[in-house]
Amino acid sequence: AKVRKITKETNIGVTFKDVAGLEEAKVEVAEYVEFFKDPERFTKLGAKMPKGVLLTGPPGTGKTLLAKAMAGEAGKPFLSISGSEFLEMFAGVGPSRVRDLFKQARTEAPCIVFIDEIDAIGRKRGSRKMGGNDERENTLNQLLVEMDGFASSTGVIVMAATNRADILDPALLRPGRFDRQVTVDAADLDGRRDIFKVHLKNIKIAPTGDNAAVSADELETIAAQLAKLTPGFSGADIANVCNEAALIAARTDKPGVDLGDFEAAIERTIGGLEKKSRVLSPKE
Ligand code: ATP
Repeated sequence: AKVRKITKETNIGVTFKDVAGLEEAKVEVAEYVEFFKDPERFTKLGAKMPKGVLLTGPPGTGKTLLAKAMAGEAGKPFLSISGSEFLEMFAGVGPSRVRDLFKQARTEAPCIVFIDEIDAIGRKRGSRKMGGNDERENTLNQLLVEMDGFASSTGVIVMAATNRADILDPALLRPGRFDRQVTVDAADLDGRRDIFKVHLKNIKIAPTGDNAAVSADELETIAAQLAKLTPGFSGADIANVCNEAALIAARTDKPGVDLGDFEAAIERTIGGLEKKSRVLSPKE
C-alpha cells in the first residue's frame, strides 16, 4: 500500500493549458483563481471566497489535474491527501489527520487543499447495513468541524473530488462547506482529440515522408485519428496510451513513434480496461 499522507507541492508547473476540454469547468475554477490573485476585488464588494468546491465526474477525467492546475495558475501551494488515507487501523488517526491537514493549510495559506476520493470518508452517515464504522464517522465529523471553523478570508480553498457524489452525506454539501460543484465530464470525440494533442506534445512522433519533424497540422490529424480509435477512453487512459506507444517504439529502437505503435498501445489499453471491468463487475 502506498504511504502517501499529506503531500505538499509548491511551484506547480501544471496550468489550464495542460487540461484539455473541460471548458466550462475551467471557467468556474478560473474564478477562484482570480479570488486568490486579487481577493480585494471581490471582498470590497462583499463577496466571500468559496471555502469548498466539489469536483464530480467519472474516474480519470482530470479532476486531480484541474485542482492542481488551479494551484499552478494561482501560484499557490497544493496540499493533497486521498480520502482513504485518513482511515487507518487505529481509532482516532482519521480525525487527527484531518486536524493536521487543516493546521498545515492555515500555516501555508493562501493555499489549495485537495481531498481525492472524498466518498471514502464522506459517505452518508448511518446508512451502512453492516454495523457502525465510528472511525469513519468521526473523521467525517471532524472534517465538517474544520470546514466550519475557518473563515473564508483565511485564503484556503478546499477542493474535493469524487465519482460518487450521490452517496455523499448531505451535511458535506451545506453552505460554507462543499457548496460549489464543478462537473468534470467524460471526454467526447473532440475532447479526446484535445487530450491527445496535450499528451502528444511530449512524444517524439515519427515524421512521415521527407519531413524532418511533424507539423502542427499533422499533429492535429494524428490526434483526430487516435480520438476515433478510442471511444470510451478517459484522459488517464489516453495519457497511458501515449506513454505505452513510446515504450513500444523504444523497444525496437525506432527514431520516432508511429501509428502502428499507437494502435498496439490502444489494443493493450483496451485489454487492460476489459480485465478491469471484469474484476469490477463480477457476475451476479
Ligand atoms: P480519479 O477519479 O481516478 O482520481 P481524476 O479525474 O482525478 O481521476 P486525474 O488523476 O486528474 O483524473 O487524471 C490522470 C491523468 O490523466 C492526468 O495526470 C493527465 O495526465 C491525464 N488526463 C486526465 N484528464 C485529462 C484532461 N482533461 N486533459 C489532459 N490530460 C488529462
